[in-house]
Amino acid sequence: MSEMKKELITFQRIAEALLAHEQQNPVAEKIETSNLYEQLDLSLSDAPMNDDGFEEALSELVLATPKTGTRLFFNQLFGGRQPKAVLGDLLAVMLNNSMYTYKAAGAQIGIEKEIIARVCELTGYGANAGGTFPPGGSMSNFMAMVMARDAYDDVAGSAGVSLKMVSYTSEISHYSVPKNAAFIGLGRNSVRFIPADERGKMIPAELTKQIKADLEKGLCPFFVNATAGTTVLGAFDPISEIAEICKEHQLWLHVDGAYCGGVLFSKQYKHLLESIEKSDSFSFNAHKMLGTPLSCSMIVVKEKAHLVHSFSHDANYLYQTDVDEFNPGKVSMQCGRRNDALKFWTLWKSVGTTGLAKLVEQEFFLADIARNYVRNHPDYTLYSFDSSISICFNYKDVPAQKLCTELYTDNQALVGFGTHDGTEFVRLVTINANNSEADILNFFKVLEESVEKNNVAENQAVTN
Ligand SMILES: *Cc1c(COP(=O)(O)O)cnc(C)c1O
Repeated sequence: MSEMKKELITFQRIAEALLAHEQQNPVAEKIETSNLYEQLDLSLSDAPMNDDGFEEALSELVLATPKTGTRLFFNQLFGGRQPKAVLGDLLAVMLNNSMYTYKAAGAQIGIEKEIIARVCELTGYGANAGGTFPPGGSMSNFMAMVMARDAYDDVAGSAGVSLKMVSYTSEISHYSVPKNAAFIGLGRNSVRFIPADERGKMIPAELTKQIKADLEKGLCPFFVNATAGTTVLGAFDPISEIAEICKEHQLWLHVDGAYCGGVLFSKQYKHLLESIEKSDSFSFNAHKMLGTPLSCSMIVVKEKAHLVHSFSHDANYLYQTDVDEFNPGKVSMQCGRRNDALKFWTLWKSVGTTGLAKLVEQEFFLADIARNYVRNHPDYTLYSFDSSISICFNYKDVPAQKLCTELYTDNQALVGFGTHDGTEFVRLVTINANNSEADILNFFKVLEESVEKNNVAENQAVTN
């Protein structure tokens, strides 16, 4: 048997053990960082290892790793596992193409182009649209900012930044926006953080006010980042009103849909992106709402020419055959680029657009279940709003941070906390479409039992 065949069998053995383990232990046992290297054999040494010892070390590592595919992982903005998407990603690893040229990736370029074309259609961007798969949502926002900079100042990409350019994003938007401003040479201080209303939506009048103030100072407003699904509350900025402002002042409008841009695929929830066709660029993470393995991020642009202008660079050692259309390295950030398209294609191909919509709709259904539970139980306080898959709440008078950490250290569930308007709360994210109503209700049960148990333990500690 070839070594590759043998390792595929090893893979199957370990993967099956993982699936069985996930059933029994949906939350991996927490290993203290101070214990990590004692508890697991992670060391590397000069001598080779025999196959049995190797597989044992590897299996232990796999089973000890946090389990993001299970019904008790709510910690981040991804979770669960779509089997058809996993299949696609496994094959992408086997094929190991680099997505810069048709010569190196062939038909895989075709599937990436097909996805981009269908997504551009859904955004209503028109005939000149284009897109690419950046290495993540942060880098999608980066690409948008670079294109906006170059659209505003044609020579910035060659001569460097000389104008006092300023950009705008809501005060509760993703932290990649100021980071990206630092990366492109404008500096974090060039970003204006626009106040959001109590529901977490950017206030358009505040945006206008700030743009005018900056213009009066002789600064150069060039870019607005609107968010579709803010990181904590899951709020959607009002794209339509922001687009009007951008049009008036000729600013680039990017919509960061990393978290909830997946609503694009659901007729029922697409209204949350109303007027998306008026934006200049839009990005979303298929590894969030659509459940593909990490990372699977896309950016689409109304005018593909901007992608070419900012990201193409001649390299005759690379681009030796075929037309640019089929050499997407001409519009990507990276040179070598892993095939993130195939996992999304295998999912989309198998379930259809209606199947993608069902994933999104299931997540909103689960969010409704969770919100209703919180609303109907007097021990809970709700801080988030409808039309969001983030459910922010507190239970009794337990500080959110304490509650989340206890759930973690007791190996009960992984869930995080967040803050809005000075209040800290638990943030439950119903982003795993494989979960059912029972799984969400079970989460609350686990949480209540944990609080009960820790209260008893604390009271005992006090009386002792
Ligand atoms: C997750 C997220 C990002 C960052 O995406 P990465 O793929 O983690 O880099 C950006 N913006 C928002 C709103 C997000 O939720």
